[in-house]
Amino acid sequence: MTEPDPRIIAGENIGQIDATQIPRYGGAATFARLPRIDEVARADVVIVGVPFDSGVSYRPGARFGPAHIRESSRLLRPYNPAMGVSPFATQQVVDAGDLAANPFSIDEAITSIERGARSLLERVPHLLTLGGDHTIALPLLRAMAGVHGPVAVVHFDAHLDTWDTYFGAEYTHGTPFRRASEEGLLDRSGCLHVGIRGPLYSEADLSEDSGLGFQVVSAPEVDHLGVTGIVQRIADRVGDRPVYVSVDIDVLDPAHAPGTGTPEAGGLSSRELLAVLRSFGTLNLIGADIVEVAPSYDHAQITGIAAAHVGYELVSALAAGRTGSGGAGTAGTGAAG
Ligand code: MN
Ligand code: MN
Repeated sequence: MTEPDPRIIAGENIGQIDATQIPRYGGAATFARLPRIDEVARADVVIVGVPFDSGVSYRPGARFGPAHIRESSRLLRPYNPAMGVSPFATQQVVDAGDLAANPFSIDEAITSIERGARSLLERVPHLLTLGGDHTIALPLLRAMAGVHGPVAVVHFDAHLDTWDTYFGAEYTHGTPFRRASEEGLLDRSGCLHVGIRGPLYSEADLSEDSGLGFQVVSAPEVDHLGVTGIVQRIADRVGDRPVYVSVDIDVLDPAHAPGTGTPEAGGLSSRELLAVLRSFGTLNLIGADIVEVAPSYDHAQITGIAAAHVGYELVSALAAGRTGSGGAGTAGTGAAG
């Protein structure tokens, strides 16, 4: 039996493995070299992987996303200067490993992902999931709505993901937000997509999407809105509702995220996306996912590093919300909360 960590006995949060003792390229690849969930007594934020990609319509490979994002997160450091927070010190962040999901039965996978997410949410209030393809957002939203009731969704993606069926299948990576809306998991007055672009099947895709409760901030609009304008559109839409953030990495331009299954030209830069996420300390953030990272098409960890930084900014936004510092660009008082 190993001795309990004296920091746990003292009630302190356990951060990353000390890089002055074990270099960053060594040791176990938990997200950001954070402790595993079984190494701490309690946690505020849990990161979990869902290596599942049986719902994809084009290139497969996102089942290897969780391992790739973790491996690409080794260089994340403890202080976030852009937000003025230490996300792993002011809250306990842990890695729960991966949820098992049946690769041969989407129905069974969805059931087990929901069950796994619910069981984590019984122990830890905030959940950040590393996918996996976008199918997993449906069981995650079921688990979230089970705790919070219908939630607002801020969905970053090149694609609407509110299609009805594909080859007759209801549960695919192109349909999670339609199913979620139909099931009453979404607050239809508080949802929006950011980064939508590329050709659709027809104009009806957009009108049906609107009926399901989504506004759209398209990628071409980003040019004139800028980061400030996008942040304002999001804040106006979600207000103080509980917010779930879903980041399909293909919201980024293929130049910034080549390692994904359905790339579309003309997307956001990683700098734009990270800047938008830094404003989320002012939102009532309940959970998030980062999906569609497919490492077989990645080069030099470009996509993995972008996804790791997306995770870092989301965890930082939770820390900012916790300390009341509000995130980038706000004059926070740092009041405890
Ligand atoms: Mn997409
Ligand atoms: Mn998607």
